[in-house]
Amino acid sequence: MFRRWNLSLLILLILLSANFRSPERVTAQKNIPFAKYIILLIGDGMGYNHLQAANLYTKQIPDYQSWQSVGVSTYPEGGTYDPQAAWSDFLYVTSSQITDSAAAATALYTGSKTSIGSISVNADHSARLLTITEIARTRGMAVGAVTTTPISDATPGAWIAHNDARQNGFAILDEALWGDPNTTGNADKSYYEGGHGKTIPPVSLLIGGGHPNWYTTGNHFVNNDIITKLKNELNQPGAFKYIERISGSPDGGQRLLNEAQKNDTMRLVGLFGGSNGDVEYRLADGSGFNPENPTLPEMTRAALAVLEKDRDGFILMIEGGTIDHASHANKMNEMIGEVIGFNDAIQAVIDWVNDPYNASDWENTLVIITADHETGYLTASPSAFADQPLGEISPNTLQFEKVISSTGRRASWVDQNNNNEIDSGETVYWAWNSGGHTNSLVPLFIRGKGSEKLNQYIRGFDPIRGDYIDNTDVFKLMHDALGYYYFLPIVFQTVSQLNNP
Ligand SMILES: [Zn+2]
Repeated sequence: MFRRWNLSLLILLILLSANFRSPERVTAQKNIPFAKYIILLIGDGMGYNHLQAANLYTKQIPDYQSWQSVGVSTYPEGGTYDPQAAWSDFLYVTSSQITDSAAAATALYTGSKTSIGSISVNADHSARLLTITEIARTRGMAVGAVTTTPISDATPGAWIAHNDARQNGFAILDEALWGDPNTTGNADKSYYEGGHGKTIPPVSLLIGGGHPNWYTTGNHFVNNDIITKLKNELNQPGAFKYIERISGSPDGGQRLLNEAQKNDTMRLVGLFGGSNGDVEYRLADGSGFNPENPTLPEMTRAALAVLEKDRDGFILMIEGGTIDHASHANKMNEMIGEVIGFNDAIQAVIDWVNDPYNASDWENTLVIITADHETGYLTASPSAFADQPLGEISPNTLQFEKVISSTGRRASWVDQNNNNEIDSGETVYWAWNSGGHTNSLVPLFIRGKGSEKLNQYIRGFDPIRGDYIDNTDVFKLMHDALGYYYFLPIVFQTVSQLNNP
């Protein structure tokens, strides 16, 4: 009897001490001035010369490019970056180990390198990695992602899910929306594979492409089972609002914004996209875009309107995803158009932080702008190192861009003898030297709460780009901004609970 009472007392004491400890922590958290809002903007495939090209075309330098800035190394698990080799051997950045958007996104969001194609799981897929968004969720923060590519593509995918392979978009989306990679389909079905079990409460907001009505062949990003579930749940409390592209309705951006601004829209899925899943390209002069889709700045404003309603703050990733796809195709016109759209999205974020009528300011908000890797090896002329300034970039020189017969890569030059080769004496404005990604450093710009920690993560010095950090350090910067050491016990507790439900 006494022993039983003693045991009960012990359990009671443990419970009480646990209960007494938690409110103390909560009180302490509220007094610690950590970032309440974290916004990470990723120009997919956007290297230094991509920015230079857009600046030359617009004859403007966006404000953010004067923020505190460093280079970022992007190599995957097992790779390295050698600054001396990068500027002495032209092919070094195309021949050393090169990342993809999945491995790079995983590094940015989890602080761990992984293998190509892995979505926030380790290189041999034996374990899932804790993401910055999961840590933010344990603080009650809302989580959002916005992209011009499909909503379950690699860059948003690693932000919101864990999977062995980036192509398993249905599992990625199921996990993001409902916390279980097999909510709408079993793991033996195509693109429902590779999941790592249930995770903590899912995203509040997802806006992007991949709508199966437009991307009809081989769509592995979004299927109709997922859309049907979203539509069936529309009127349930706490469910997602849902806005999609409508054929013949050129007001995608306005419909999205209207829905986002409604008082009761706390969670929102916006599903758009074109024939390859991406939102159609915006060309350099602003044409080409299909207004049945929202622009990236419209998606951004909608995301901020939804997420700012969460009084615990939020963490939001905004991807200019088609910068990469234009660069794979070596198309300067499309690439510049997408960088301008990305710049406009950044400006929408800056305007939101500066807006005196909301709760955000630079004392409680961290904004990081970077890229996951460089794509296309864009330089001043074929085999010129990337530090040589690009030539004239204008509507005129955009017309000259075409394939060089002998290399298959596109360039812009005055082909005086019209032989589709760059002959000596012909003026060259720029050249693409790759159809894929490179191991080049990418730029990072940072401002706001937690940006003062940047210097403590400098890894090395590049003779052209100067100080650089690694992409895994971007996770650390966001982690620091959240004040991780206070929340780590809670995180472990929550994650272990979820791993052992
Ligand atoms: Zn790519």
